Amino acid sequence: MKIGVLGGGQLGRMLALAGYPLGLRFCFLDPSPQAPAGHLAELVIAPYDDPDALQRFAAQVDLVTYEFENVPVSSARQLAQHRPVSPPPEALEASQDRLTEKRFFRSLGIPTPAFAPVASLAELEGAVEQIGLPAVLKTRRFGYDGKGQMILRTPSDLRPAWEALGSLPLILEEFIAFERELSILGVRGRDGALAFYPLVENHHRDGILRLSLAPAPRLTQELQAVAEGYAKKILEALSYVGVLALELFERHGELLANEMAPRVHNSGHWTIEGAVTSQFENHLRAICGLPLGETSPRGYCAMINLIGSIPNRDAVLAFPGAHLHLYGKEARPGRKLGHITLCESDPDLLEAKLKQILSRLDPTSLQALVARWKA
Ligand code: AMP
Repeated sequence: MKIGVLGGGQLGRMLALAGYPLGLRFCFLDPSPQAPAGHLAELVIAPYDDPDALQRFAAQVDLVTYEFENVPVSSARQLAQHRPVSPPPEALEASQDRLTEKRFFRSLGIPTPAFAPVASLAELEGAVEQIGLPAVLKTRRFGYDGKGQMILRTPSDLRPAWEALGSLPLILEEFIAFERELSILGVRGRDGALAFYPLVENHHRDGILRLSLAPAPRLTQELQAVAEGYAKKILEALSYVGVLALELFERHGELLANEMAPRVHNSGHWTIEGAVTSQFENHLRAICGLPLGETSPRGYCAMINLIGSIPNRDAVLAFPGAHLHLYGKEARPGRKLGHITLCESDPDLLEAKLKQILSRLDPTSLQALVARWKA
């Protein structure tokens, strides 16, 4: 069976790496000739909205999925006329607009930060009156890794923020002074079978994920059950097939939904070595109609993203137990170039190793996060 993947980034590349042992083949569509998945599989180089390229792509694959959520919904719908497309284009549509997405969460009874649409400076002033300050002003579409958003702290921040972002449709959100950020990955098979990975604790800097700890430290069964309940509602409402990621804020023991991604997710990379079945394999099992694999963790894991530059490869590989993944991308500031996973049977040992590897790789920044870990 040949899987067509819209997007040829690192997520696509890791999907292919998980799919080859299952006997699957891959073809990627990406506008960039340098797309990292092109190193391991056929790559159709074309814009996502090129109808002829989509036609050619559909003709050579058995089913279609995506590894990038900003693929035009119309392209997913065009492909769906010829081949099964999973997750469904409706999931793509719901996740592409932060306003639609938050309304969708609320319609399912999933709590979110307070929010309001903003289409003018007057509406922004009205929204701030309703929601209060601080608040976060975000573009509704095409925001990722913290791009297209500004924090408003005082009334004098409104006009400059409007001038910076107001050319696009916006959403104002209550600023959540969360205790931590968590994510849950769920997977739903063609037959409706469900499986969930344990909640993961995520640490961001400059809006980009830097470090994930899995399972999230101090995870209780109650918190896991609440997160699974929310993910299940989304998966079932969309008749979803594949892996879905739901990003959450934890505040006073309560979970608030921030956003979802209708695809495999950076906070699930630990599952390659750290879970019985990786998120990539489970996504493929789901979309191919195969039985889902076990999602239980093999131990305590930390995943460190390599952003902007790659540390000395020999030094990483010499570190006992470090698993290095490089995506074959050219170094550029702010770019995700690879990740390292540590996986241990004992949380104290993991913490000690994490501190040690961070002190070698990243002497300044990530170590402070580890100090918070067990607080
Ligand atoms: P997003 O692009 O919505 O995932 O936002 C990127 C990061 O900004 C999140 O991971 C949070 O750290 C932070 N953030 C986003 N929305 C809020 C909010 N409503 N309150 C507090 N922090 C937020």
